[in-house]
Amino acid sequence: MQGFEKYYRKTWSQRLDILTQQNKLSEKQVEQLKQNAVTPVLGEAQIENFLTQFQLPEGLALNFVIDGKEYLIPMVIEEPSVIAGASHGAAIVKKTGGFHTKSSRRAMRGQVVLENVTDLVATKKKIEEQETELMQAAVDAHPSIVKRGGGPLALKVRILEQGLLSVDLIIDTKEAMGANMINSMLEAVADKLRTTGHHDVLMAILSNYTTECLVTASCQIPVANLAKNGLPGLKIAQKLAQASRVAQVDPYRAATHNKGIMNGIDAAVIASGNDWRAIEAAAHAYAARDGQYRGLSTWKVAGDQLEGELSLPVPVGSVGGSIGIVPLVQVNSALRSEKDALGLEKIIASVGLAQNLAALYALVTDGIQKGHMNLQMKSLAVSVGAKEDEIEQVVSVLQKLPQQDQAIAQHVLDEIRNEASENE
Ligand code: NDP
Repeated sequence: MQGFEKYYRKTWSQRLDILTQQNKLSEKQVEQLKQNAVTPVLGEAQIENFLTQFQLPEGLALNFVIDGKEYLIPMVIEEPSVIAGASHGAAIVKKTGGFHTKSSRRAMRGQVVLENVTDLVATKKKIEEQETELMQAAVDAHPSIVKRGGGPLALKVRILEQGLLSVDLIIDTKEAMGANMINSMLEAVADKLRTTGHHDVLMAILSNYTTECLVTASCQIPVANLAKNGLPGLKIAQKLAQASRVAQVDPYRAATHNKGIMNGIDAAVIASGNDWRAIEAAAHAYAARDGQYRGLSTWKVAGDQLEGELSLPVPVGSVGGSIGIVPLVQVNSALRSEKDALGLEKIIASVGLAQNLAALYALVTDGIQKGHMNLQMKSLAVSVGAKEDEIEQVVSVLQKLPQQDQAIAQHVLDEIRNEASENE
């Protein structure tokens, strides 16, 4: 686009000036970008063509007891009711001891994909025999991770289809998620495969399907604690288990079931400075692990208890990427006060299960809208231009009306303003 040539080479203020020079934004709009750029030096270190820092609200989820310890969990999200839902779910579970977690060994996986392989079985065998040499190439590419007690753990060769092989490296990245160190190691392994075996390397990249980094959160709730609206707790527990069953058999429901889980997980992951796209990719791939997309959590009634369980890959780090450089991430880590990346994994899985419990509980009792509407009405009031001192007034009128939409909110705000000016 004209005027945007070599945009990435411009300074921050030159980039903003171009936006007005090219009539893309007004002076006032550029001022808005400037005001929101709280730490431009940091922003420029994080991304390309930096303009500003886009704000999302951060709040605190309460009531979490995980493996016998209490946690405060900062969550970053723009959607109303998510933090309330997580705190509510956690409060129900807290009454009977909180969440319990277990995890696999924390390891990541990377792939070197070979193409044009003529004899798949013989090539697989040959590469497996080279395991020590290939693992050494990986170590040499990033020796510091071995000094930290990690490094490559195993090499696995998988036949994908005619002509295609995947050489997988399983790597202990210790406290890092490890994308960059894994990719460096894989490129070294790819070079070795090219030079020693004349293999045709298609690409070398980590896999976000981190099946070696699984965590499970579980909880037990006496069904009696779920009684509500005159319905006995057992009946509600059975409905909740049935709702979880629907998410196992119907992908349309499973997608929404899992979106609810990821509401909490993404919010906690963003607050931790980790790459939430990686967590999303891992979760959804895991949800489809047997060929059908299913709900990530399950709930069942066992005697007088409702038992819930959520398993998913949570490849987060406590170092690396943005974690060490964004000051708020450090503040959030102090709030959570977990010890390490594994501790963070366990918190994240517990948040997902709490979120899911709150959503299903609402769905099989009052419906989801009741809890959503108060903040939704605040957003509606703000969207039609209500000022700070008008928001509560608009909300209280909207709450009494049978329907709420933007036109109605606008009308309510106009009435409030008319009344105020008449009283002046
Ligand atoms: P970094 O590149 O920042 O690497 C982590 C660094 O942390 C290492 O270099 C290591 O230093 C240092 N470190 C300090 N203490 C420890 C410890 N105890 N254990 C392990 N490492 C330690 O980050 P990652 O490699 O973790 O990569 C994450 C980033 O990669 C994210 O920003 C993500 O968005 C991005 N990414 C993701 C991709 C994907 O998911 N597909 C693809 C590409 C990038 P030293 O070198 O001295 O050992």
